[in-house]
Amino acid sequence: MDLGLTGRTAVVMGASQGLGEASARQLAAEGAHVLLVARREGALHEIKQSIEADGGSASVTVCDLFDSTARQNLVETLQGLPRLDVLVANSGGPAPGMAPGIDASTWTREFDAMVLGLIQVIDAAAVKMKESGFGRILVIGSSGMVVPIPKLAVSNTLRSAVGGYVKTLAEQVASFGVTCNMVLPGRVETLRTQAIDQATAKALGVSEEDARARSIATIPAGRYGEPREFGAVVTFLASEQAGYITGSQIRVDGGAIRSINA
Ligand code: NAD
Repeated sequence: MDLGLTGRTAVVMGASQGLGEASARQLAAEGAHVLLVARREGALHEIKQSIEADGGSASVTVCDLFDSTARQNLVETLQGLPRLDVLVANSGGPAPGMAPGIDASTWTREFDAMVLGLIQVIDAAAVKMKESGFGRILVIGSSGMVVPIPKLAVSNTLRSAVGGYVKTLAEQVASFGVTCNMVLPGRVETLRTQAIDQATAKALGVSEEDARARSIATIPAGRYGEPREFGAVVTFLASEQAGYITGSQIRVDGGAIRSINA
């Protein structure tokens, strides 16, 4: 299937590792120019070189979502692009913590970066995409939006807020050829997943292998997902063929979320 991505421009946030990197690599493999965004310039340049070595096209922009000036610079970079067809709005996970007892300063800081920051970038992309008559906005969420994860109270709450925004925006831009969806990872093998297993092992006083085995036991597929499997879903949703999918939350979780509907 020709995904119709050749010659398109995709901005991928959180592209220095994990799900963002995997998405960027596959979008590039399908012929899109990818603008790689994250905090670590060196890591982004290594991925850019690797993409180019594979025959793809990439560029780099540094942005820390916690830095409002950097966010504004990213917005202006997006506004100045010759074209913008795909935005993968992704970032690190909000700070861990259980309810009750998370202090107000944590809520404020995380809300500013992970809700307002993402909305600022999403809005800039949506305006530009509306003008061109084509756009694919993909926001990376979490299975915790459907089944809250007890130790990730901030993530459960703020991602749901972003979900409300994405659904609202989807309706406003659909008639302009712009789709807005969220992609919800369950447990996909990245450095973040490894770090979570290490933290769980420490908290339970068990080995990392044991913590991982317990986690895998909750997944019907019997394994963690591979980043390329996640990137493949993002890439399809970014394609011309996915033009009738909007306002949806697509799970990539090996069946881990047990509910039928929301
Ligand atoms: P990761 O930690 O491996 O990568 C996160 C990326 O975001 C990196 O490129 C990092 O540099 C970037 N980033 C982090 N903080 C940033 C900031 N302040 N400003 C700009 N960029 C920043 O995570 P991942 O496993 O690739 O997951 C990506 C997203 O999906 C995260 O929000 C994560 O919480 C969520 N998620 C992942 C899984 C999973 O199984 N991997 C499951 C549920 C949710």
